[in-house]
Formats: sequence, structure tokens, C-alpha cells
Amino acid sequence: MTVEDAGDLAGVPDGFGRLWVPHRMAYIGGENKPADAAAGHGCPFCRAPELSDEDGLIVARGRTSYVLLNLYPYNGGHLLVCPYRHVADYTELEQAEVVEIADLTRTAMTVLRAVSGPDGFNLGMNQGAVAGAGIAAHLHQHVVPRWGGDANFLPIVGRTRALPELLADTRTRLAAAWPGEDH
Ligand SMILES: [Zn+2]
Repeated sequence: MTVEDAGDLAGVPDGFGRLWVPHRMAYIGGENKPADAAAGHGCPFCRAPELSDEDGLIVARGRTSYVLLNLYPYNGGHLLVCPYRHVADYTELEQAEVVEIADLTRTAMTVLRAVSGPDGFNLGMNQGAVAGAGIAAHLHQHVVPRWGGDANFLPIVGRTRALPELLADTRTRLAAAWPGEDH
């Protein structure tokens, strides 16, 4: 993975400045932020499944939905569960998507526990830009592993480690631990 590839990755900007991480410069320039609410190549969550697992930071692919690493992690192993379909609102999901997003979320917790032993999780969806959704047009469920005391120092120290190489390593470890098919 190179710095130039960063524009192909998906993530949810969270408003924290990370100017010291060189690969984020592409995002600060707005290159990964959708210009509008349209589906397709302007949307990182529509684009990621078209890439290889490695390039898209995809951990697992389901039938209706998939799991990828957030390029803007609150913590190491911060995952997003997305439907393949470009829908914004939870009420727009089809039943099969609701079920699979729930199943993938539970599997993500199990895999994260096995790989990195978090003490807890934050799970949830921000619905609408006003509620904090960085990419409001394409629904995504956050799975954020939490460790005791992490909020005390990780926002300052840990975020400096959000480098592409670390995300690639994290993806490889989580994908290898994911049950089911080969990855
Ligand atoms: Zn989309």
C-alpha cells in the first residue's frame, strides 16, 4: 500500500485533526469525502467492495453486507459493517440486510475479542450528518473495541499510529481470524 492508494480507501472522518499522518493529507484535501449523496465511485463504501480485500481494508464479505476497517479509527481494530447497497437510513434496509449486519457485528466482536482482547465495545450508527455521520449517505455500523483507560491517552498517543501499514496488518490479522471461508 502506498500513500497514493489512500484515496481508494473507505473511512469516516471524525473531526479529529491528524495532520502528522502523511497518508491522511489526501482526506484533508477532501479527496475521499463524497461530493454529494450519490452512489457509485463518489461513495467510499460503494467503492471499497470493488477493490481487493487488501486495498479496500475489507475484513469479511457477506451476501448483502461486508466488514471493513475504518480508515479513521477511534481505536485499533475499529470496524465498520456496511450494506453493499447505497442506502442512508436504517429503515431503508431490507430484512436480510438487517439480519446480516447484526450477524456480522456479532462476529466482529468475537473476532476482535480473540485477536486483541478488548474490555468492551461501542456499537452504533450515526444517522444523518447532524448526528455525526461522516458519510451520511451510506449506512455503516461502527464496532469500536474499547480497553480500560483508552480514552485517557489514545486520542493523543494512539492516533499517531494510524498508519497505512498498521491498518494493513490489522486487516490481515482480523481476516485470518474471521470464521468461515478463506480470506
Ligand atoms: Zn455508497
